[in-house]
Amino acid sequence: MAKLAKESPVHERLGLDSAEALILHLPLRYEDETRLTRLRDARPGQAVLVEGVVSHLEIQTRPRRQLLATLNETGSNAPFYLRMLNFYPSQQAHLKAGARLRLYGEVKPGFFGAEMVHPRWRVVAANTPLSDRLTPVYPTVAGLSQLRIQKAIAAVLTGADLTDTLADATRAGLALPAFDEAVKRLHAPMPEDSQAALEAHEHPAWRRIKFDELLTQQLSLRLHCRERDRQSAPILANVAKLTTRFIANLPFPLTAAQNRVVREIQADIAKPHPMHRLLQGDVGSGKTCVAALATLNAVGSGYQAAVMAPTEILAEQSYLKFREWLEPLGIPVVRLTAAMKGKARVQAMTAIVDGSAAVAVGTHALFQDKVRFKSLALAIVDEQHRFGVEQRLALRAKGGPPAASEGEGNPRPSPLYIPHLLMMSATPIPRSLAMSYYADLDVSVIDELPPGRKPVATRVLGSARRDEVVARLRDYCKSGAQAYWVCPLIEESEKIDLKAAIDAHAELTAELPDLRIGLAHGRMKSNEKNAVMSAFKAGELDILVATTVIEVGVDVANASLMVIEHAERMGLAQLHQLRGRVGRGARQSTCLLLYYEPLSETARQRLHIVRDNADGFVIAREDLRLRGPGEFMGARQSGLPMLRFADLETDQDLLEQARTVAAHLLDQDPEAVRRHLRRWLPRGSDYLHA
Ligand code: ADP
Ligand code: MG
Repeated sequence: MAKLAKESPVHERLGLDSAEALILHLPLRYEDETRLTRLRDARPGQAVLVEGVVSHLEIQTRPRRQLLATLNETGSNAPFYLRMLNFYPSQQAHLKAGARLRLYGEVKPGFFGAEMVHPRWRVVAANTPLSDRLTPVYPTVAGLSQLRIQKAIAAVLTGADLTDTLADATRAGLALPAFDEAVKRLHAPMPEDSQAALEAHEHPAWRRIKFDELLTQQLSLRLHCRERDRQSAPILANVAKLTTRFIANLPFPLTAAQNRVVREIQADIAKPHPMHRLLQGDVGSGKTCVAALATLNAVGSGYQAAVMAPTEILAEQSYLKFREWLEPLGIPVVRLTAAMKGKARVQAMTAIVDGSAAVAVGTHALFQDKVRFKSLALAIVDEQHRFGVEQRLALRAKGGPPAASEGEGNPRPSPLYIPHLLMMSATPIPRSLAMSYYADLDVSVIDELPPGRKPVATRVLGSARRDEVVARLRDYCKSGAQAYWVCPLIEESEKIDLKAAIDAHAELTAELPDLRIGLAHGRMKSNEKNAVMSAFKAGELDILVATTVIEVGVDVANASLMVIEHAERMGLAQLHQLRGRVGRGARQSTCLLLYYEPLSETARQRLHIVRDNADGFVIAREDLRLRGPGEFMGARQSGLPMLRFADLETDQDLLEQARTVAAHLLDQDPEAVRRHLRRWLPRGSDYLHA
């Protein structure tokens, strides 16, 4: 971006679209210039307004060039100094002996007495009135003074349309001030307004602003839902016969929760508008099976379905599951992953294009530009939180049969319909996040695990007890159980990650020579990795040393012990996911969280949260509390701008209210909705379309 000239309008320099947007450029904090503090009362550490007359001025040269002005006030002889390390001749001209100065700044203990270093100052006449408002301090950019921002905002506030977008009755019901009162108050608070309440965004004026911001979010999300209802998607009818045969072939009955979510999904995809549904279920709750049931509706209606997993291992596992379940019903399943090369790849692509692949399972390779589905009607994204928004968007462009006019070099015509989208995740989204960032999704929850699962006994151990752990591991495996030994993933450094796993493998192999120990990590070729995983699954290995490649989805029922090294480095949700790899069989399972010193108090608390809770929702809520929503979501993954003013944790009440008001406004007052969105989203709401 070109550098803006100094004389550009204030809003442009602040990166705002229009002068009106300055109305919502709200102060970070305030300075109190409504009261004068006597020079003799000015205490170090306080930020205050003082006034005095220059009695002496000197320019010192040592230890460095600086200007020192001595100030006096009538009736006091406590010396007070103004010190400036940078100054211009123009400033010096004003600092003559006898000049009356008003200074605002922090008082410092100086060598000779109290002083201010580079305060804000100006020359005043005796008895100049004090400000009757707190002075705002705005976010700014280099070279743009607070005074210029203040003036620009004052000008906009007098001219702008500040009409309320809420009816008086609505406001009264919520005990919120009017919009114009709120913004004017925040730009120029009364002296009696608590600075602490203002800065903590707790002042009633702030509540109004936060409410409006949350209302904007709720309105946009609802409008987005409505827009989706105008798009077309293929109707995927119920295929009772196929479904019955599928269920009859399963070695287990579906849980009540699985049955319920299957019905929810089926109701959605039977409509001519794209489904946009998130299927949440804790680790091991049986989401794959639900996904497979949904593909039956697509296939039975003559369309294709695609299942996308975040890693090669998971894609491979899902592929095997889908084949096991669908091929007996005569439904062809193909696999397409980034690692597939040559003939296998060409064959898979061809089957997808000509439609002979009814179901395609793979990694993001499925959604590259080159892959053209003949008739994709249902896209399923497993472990959706691991994908970015772009990848989710790429899915939506895959719908519809290729148009006849399409040829090489021609731009791809827009799809005739949008495929139904089913996203699956074991990372539970806390209610506040679900209501805001995911409010345009319908959510189905599998809130029940298959019967017979026992909670995983979890212990937190210091690394000093590693020997004990290794001894326990030996006994465990000797009794016929299998174990995982997980090494941490350090995102920035795949190499360190790799080394940790290789070292752990070597050490354990030396310590436990009579056990069969395999190694799987992210850098291995996928066929090697698959070979190791298959061997572990077949019981040919006792211990699998792995990096967090096994984090999600891996399913080995006989594995009932997991050791996680450097547990202190991992996120809570991640630990919970990892732990979910054990506890799938009949045996009582154990998870040992090994940590390395030094361990901070927070880190200890975090590990205890995982130890003491088996419920992914509780853990996610704690994770949110400890890390904040931005990090919880991962800015990259959410793709949505975070809220500027409201806080999802502390403003839950406002969020609930905003949701109710949004629904009401859309029904009753579309004109107010339009004005509200124009005020808050002058650029439109395109960011919501992921
Ligand atoms: P996740 O929800 O974590 O993806 P999976 O779909 O991998 O869980 O299922 C975990 C295991 O539970 C699999 O072995 C699966 O076959 C099995 N499973 C799924 N549904 C049931 C059920 N209703 N009863 C018993 N086992 C089930
Ligand atoms: Mg899964």
